[in-house]
Amino acid sequence: MMRITLMLLPLLLAACSQPPKDIQETRFMMGTLVTFTVAGSDATKAKAGIRDAAAEMQRVDTEFTIYGNSDNAVKRFNAAPVGKAVLLPPEVATLLQTALTVQQQSGGALDPMLGKLDKLWGFSSETPRQHPPSEAEIQAALPPRQCLRQTPQGYVRLDPRCQLDFGAFAKGYAIDRGIAMLRKHGIRNAIVNAGGDMRIIGDHDGRPWHIGIRHPRKAEGVIGTLALSGDVSIVTSGDYERFFIDHGRRYHHILDPATGWPAMASESVTVIAPNATLADAWSTAIFVRGVTFLPQASTHDLAVLIVDRNGRIHANAAMQRRLQHTN
Ligand code: ADP
Ligand code: MG
Repeated sequence: MMRITLMLLPLLLAACSQPPKDIQETRFMMGTLVTFTVAGSDATKAKAGIRDAAAEMQRVDTEFTIYGNSDNAVKRFNAAPVGKAVLLPPEVATLLQTALTVQQQSGGALDPMLGKLDKLWGFSSETPRQHPPSEAEIQAALPPRQCLRQTPQGYVRLDPRCQLDFGAFAKGYAIDRGIAMLRKHGIRNAIVNAGGDMRIIGDHDGRPWHIGIRHPRKAEGVIGTLALSGDVSIVTSGDYERFFIDHGRRYHHILDPATGWPAMASESVTVIAPNATLADAWSTAIFVRGVTFLPQASTHDLAVLIVDRNGRIHANAAMQRRLQHTN
């Protein structure tokens, strides 16, 4: 009897030390497929975490979108009379402050007040355009440099063309909130991947997570791979997601606030930043600025890979250190 027990014990231990299987779930939200991957956690805990993370991300989307029929504080602000102070909910005000900081640090390349212009171009609307708007239409929607005043009573819109649009970083913020929710459930190893934009935490059964950076012009092509662990956010902005071609010219959804026209400096920009909100905001901003911004990227704690307008690949030192191999 005794002998059998001793014999069995190592076998049982071996069975227990097998890492639990990954739990993976995909939902459609924020106009894209969002995949949650949880490693090294029991299935019940992982599924409860994913359910709450998905609900939280859906809430963020509803709270910040300027599209659709549901009411929110952002839409109310955009509809408020010019000159009237409007109190924004703390969560909206905090995200706006982050955007205003990146706007300043990027020399105006990120602009959280492009709502009217974004609606004019219509890349996020249900009936996309086939032809660009006229220059006169663009000027009537392009906000001036001074758009907002902060007062003790709230934020004041200074011009009817000033309308909030969090489209360039709300997805990143939603990813951050999704990860926060997974952590609340005690999950330590996970990826929240929203259409290629993601935050990863922990590792994959003791090994890094492997992530590929997609090529902007080759659907199945990968520029390079990254082995990531700990807490890393990686976001790509590209001209290939939402666009139309008119007279052989590509018009896409990342707009240059200096002109009101699609930014022409890059095909895609991939950014690694301390969180997904910043990675998302900066990937859009650096897309607008192009390679001229690359030397400044490290001062903002960013690893950056740019495919420029000619298809040439540029990476700063921080990104080169992380890249496993490039094609
Ligand atoms: P996606 O999330 O679709 O990958 P981005 O993160 O680059 O793309 O954000 C693009 C969205 O941000 C646009 O759909 C528009 O709502 C908004 N936007 C476009 N250009 C700018 C800009 N220069 N600054 C701030 N927001 C912008
Ligand atoms: Mg972005």
